[in-house]
Amino acid sequence: MLNFKLPSRPRLTTLLTVSICSTVAVIVLSLLFLVDHFAVDYAKKEAKQRLQQLSWQMRDSLDLVMQKAVGDVSLLAQLSQVKDAKDPKEVGSILDNLQKTFPSYAWIGLANPDGKVFAATHAVLEGQDVSQRPWFKSGKLGLYAGDYHPALLLEKKLPYNADPWRFVDVSIPVLRSDGSSRGIMGVHLSWNWARDLAKNLLAPTDSQYGVEIIVVREDNTVILGPKALEEKKITSQSVELSRSGKTGATEETWADGNSYLTGYSQTGRSKEFPGLKWSILVRQPKEVALQASRQLRHDILLLGSVLGLLLAGIAAILARRLAAPLNELSAAIEKRGKGASGQAIPVVTSFHEAHVLSVILGEMVRNEEQHVLALRKMNEGLESTVAERTREIENKAQELEKALAQQQSTQLRLQAITDNLPSVITYIDAGQRYRFVNAHATSVFGVMPDQMIGKTLEEISGEQAYAVMKPHIQAALQGENISFEMTGIGDNQRNYQYNYIPAKDAAGQVEGFYAMTFDITDRKRVEAMKNEFVSTVSHELRTPLTSINGALKLIVAGVTGEIAPKAKELLTVALRNADRLVRLINDILDIEKIESGNMEFDLKSNPLVPLIKETVAASEAFAEQYGVVMKFEYAGEDLNVKLDRDRFVQVLTNLLSNAIKFSNTGEFVEVLVENKEKTVKVTVADHGSGIPEDFHDKIFQKFSQVDSSNTKKKGGTGLGLNICKTIIEHMHGTIGFHSVAGKGSQFFFELPKE
Ligand code: ADP
Repeated sequence: MLNFKLPSRPRLTTLLTVSICSTVAVIVLSLLFLVDHFAVDYAKKEAKQRLQQLSWQMRDSLDLVMQKAVGDVSLLAQLSQVKDAKDPKEVGSILDNLQKTFPSYAWIGLANPDGKVFAATHAVLEGQDVSQRPWFKSGKLGLYAGDYHPALLLEKKLPYNADPWRFVDVSIPVLRSDGSSRGIMGVHLSWNWARDLAKNLLAPTDSQYGVEIIVVREDNTVILGPKALEEKKITSQSVELSRSGKTGATEETWADGNSYLTGYSQTGRSKEFPGLKWSILVRQPKEVALQASRQLRHDILLLGSVLGLLLAGIAAILARRLAAPLNELSAAIEKRGKGASGQAIPVVTSFHEAHVLSVILGEMVRNEEQHVLALRKMNEGLESTVAERTREIENKAQELEKALAQQQSTQLRLQAITDNLPSVITYIDAGQRYRFVNAHATSVFGVMPDQMIGKTLEEISGEQAYAVMKPHIQAALQGENISFEMTGIGDNQRNYQYNYIPAKDAAGQVEGFYAMTFDITDRKRVEAMKNEFVSTVSHELRTPLTSINGALKLIVAGVTGEIAPKAKELLTVALRNADRLVRLINDILDIEKIESGNMEFDLKSNPLVPLIKETVAASEAFAEQYGVVMKFEYAGEDLNVKLDRDRFVQVLTNLLSNAIKFSNTGEFVEVLVENKEKTVKVTVADHGSGIPEDFHDKIFQKFSQVDSSNTKKKGGTGLGLNICKTIIEHMHGTIGFHSVAGKGSQFFFELPKE
């Protein structure tokens, strides 16, 4: 459905009609322009040429007659009958004969030198005095041509003429045979010949189309032409041009206000005879000359208009024919647009393109219907999917809400639990900022938990404490479980134990760590009291115990005399326990010394190998008791190590005694020395019971013993390795071990070389 308004556009019919009419108009106008420019020009040129030619013909004819007259007069003057004439009749008959050959000779006469006419045609004017006539006067001087003039003496003597008599004269002096003057021979040419000439020259069509011949004398008087102009003076461009000797045709406006095309030329161009200079103008009104081309223009305009109208009609019919199928198609589409979905697109067959268009449109509409159907189905499917998804999302949201509420309550519970615990529990992120703090934090840091959240460890702990904690924090952030003790800074002299437990994400990356801080001040105090008590007791016990032990040894050895076997057995058990007790007390006293900082270390450079040999030798007897073989071989040069001899022997003896104790009969216990770049490594290796994996991290702790019947049998205090570690660390070394349960152990320590 068209749900928008189309802007109004011109219809196809209008467009076609307008364009065809415009084309015709343009063609007609172009034709008119061409006709105006070329046909009119051509017609003008043609007319000018014709008029010019007529003017030439007239000029030539006039010149010819004048020359004839001159020739005739000259010939007469040469005739002996004329030269030496005595009888006027004889001359008269010659003249009459000549006149007969050319009737335009109105009068031919011979005048005596005194001016009396001696002989003339038809004896006219014979005896009359013509001495004052210009032809006579000028003829005396030589060949003379007299210009157009009215008849004076002859007017009444000559027969009646429709036009008044006008003449042109030619005269010549006549000399007798002896050379004396006989008189003047003159010819009066009737102007009628010129008039006839003009009439004959103009074909009937010429006169019909207004062509006129005008002859103008040198004084601008029209001597031949339309009646209205005759013997009147005129001025015109053509006259001027002809005077300058030019010949041609021009377009000019005459005194009557009309525009004429005028051909012009001039007579009297002969060199032998100074003839009369007449301007010969042949004119035709411009309108008439160009009438044919104007008619052509009119005809073209008419034809163009008719053609235009015809084509416009055809265009309108054609446009309607073209538009009809399109209208039919658009009407069908519009109906469809208005909701008539059943409306089929008609197949129109009026012309090929419309046929193709209708077929394609029909196809498109069918396709569109199918698409719409498919879309509708898809939409329905989509709607149900959306509804389903919405339901799912709602359910998820509810679940999430529940989970959130649960989490919140869990968090609250967790907070409540942690708040009630007697230790500070915090969570610190990778940026070392507090993210969780329990209520107990206030008692340690003096800051409310919510004031700690978001703050860094450094901000809360202070610079000094942070400097101590920093390496532990970094270790925890690298994934290590950390435990360390620290005394409060400044006035706070309480003791704290810090435990850092790294928190890792699913990928195993450390996100932060949990920090638990316990106030161990009280525990420390009790421990100190206990230690003091133990050391006091130990000190008090050592002296009597040593004497008891000595006494027992002497008795068992039989120094005090023979004892009953039963008593010896009991005394041996007592001696063994006393031994153990002495060892225990020595160890406790050592520990006490270490912890109170009273153990002295006399660090000196000592050759290592002899010291090891001595210690191994000292343990031989103990090894023998267990049926264990001791081995120590070292081929390299001796090594000097900075150490306290007694303490070193104490450590090595302890490691050897452990190795021996936990070996099986017949096994080896080896001592190895490795000379490393900066340190010397001493290893005591056995092949005995080994240490179970779960005990590895506790082995250096105080009173720690593997919980097995075997260990119990071996005796011992569980303090030896702890003392070893402390001693080695005091000598700036490190201690460690490798052990696989059932396969034996290697305990080693490294001390820096000199
Ligand atoms: P003691 O030997 O006095 O019990 P120690 O601190 O020297 O105390 O040793 C602690 C415990 O470590 C022993 O009780 C024993 O369980 C275990 N242990 C030490 N050395 C070895 C060893 N070489 N082989 C097996 N277990 C050993």
